[in-house]
Amino acid sequence: MKLFFCTTKATLTVLSLLLLVPGIQAQPRARAQVFFPDLPGYVTLRCDFHTHTVFSDGTVWPTVRVEEAWRNGLDAIAISDHIEYTPHKSDIPVNYGRSSEIARAAAEPLGILVIRGAEITRGEPPGHLNAIFLTNTAALDQKDYRVAIKNAVDQGAFLFWNHPGWKQPGRKAVWYAEQGEFLANGWLHGIEVLNGTDYEAGPHQWCIEKKLALVGNSDVHGPISFEYSGAPGDHRPMTLVFARGRTEQDIREALFARRTVIFGGANIYGAAEFLEPLFAGSIQIVEPMAQVRGKARTSVQILNRAPLDFLLEFSPKPGGWEIPSALLLPSGKVASLPLRCLSDSASGDLELNLPCSVSNLLTAPDKPLKTTVAVKMKTR
Ligand SMILES: [Zn+2]
Ligand SMILES: [Zn+2]
Repeated sequence: MKLFFCTTKATLTVLSLLLLVPGIQAQPRARAQVFFPDLPGYVTLRCDFHTHTVFSDGTVWPTVRVEEAWRNGLDAIAISDHIEYTPHKSDIPVNYGRSSEIARAAAEPLGILVIRGAEITRGEPPGHLNAIFLTNTAALDQKDYRVAIKNAVDQGAFLFWNHPGWKQPGRKAVWYAEQGEFLANGWLHGIEVLNGTDYEAGPHQWCIEKKLALVGNSDVHGPISFEYSGAPGDHRPMTLVFARGRTEQDIREALFARRTVIFGGANIYGAAEFLEPLFAGSIQIVEPMAQVRGKARTSVQILNRAPLDFLLEFSPKPGGWEIPSALLLPSGKVASLPLRCLSDSASGDLELNLPCSVSNLLTAPDKPLKTTVAVKMKTR
């Protein structure tokens, strides 16, 4: 009985301490380092162009979106509250663009860019479209969606088709005549090929064929941490933008020039011209240089600084060398590539270019990036 009393008292003391010390169970206020290299001539910016707040059907205040973006290692977000769907309006009056305004004040000291956006939310066709870089959001509140889109275009907005297959059986998107009309009018500039955790192969192919920008976003409504743990492979999706600088105008220019790739789950989707330098700049051969001694086995150590693993498949195999068929380069770690020279006559410094494909970097649906990994060795 006495023991029970003591234990209870101790428990109560610990509990009251927990209550008194502020933030004892909270996550530290720290920003994730989502490392991607800059590309020649461009800075790599991590962006999410589709988020909601209480000003439409989201459940968080705009400043929370900014804090999440900072903690998640993003450089820019667009707040894109629905125009036509505002279920909280009896508590929060409809005030287009206000969510971005509130967010901007919080974003400035953190160095996060907040792009003013809106989601034009119609049945299919045409479905949902995000317009970003708006100056007058209220001008999109129109009965006729064509007028809303035209008014966005007149403001210099970048328009992309959101989650195309969302309402379709098997999530198989349909390219409607309306999308063709928007494209012909210059009203459609990109497609959200990845929404949350849903990647759509059909729209990925359309982006390639119709020269539209690839965009991948969270479309988050609740707190972001309810949906992603932040562990490898379970991060919020992002559009990587290769911009000439760090301003909103630089991001806009890059989007219209289609300099984007999508980082979602364990994959990156985008054109080889971006994936190749992104991959090459993410890996590094670790010193000391591998030593080749006759036909003895050696190993080359490769560091992967990117926030995702890379799975390499070597093909065709280089003549005169024995190398494995595949190698995993784990995120943030050094992997060892075993190899063996099949002749013992090698001398001096050696440079070996290993042709490979990276199976989780996709230049088109089911089409892995083909590249080479250059390894240097010394003979002794
Ligand atoms: Zn939507
Ligand atoms: Zn949305």
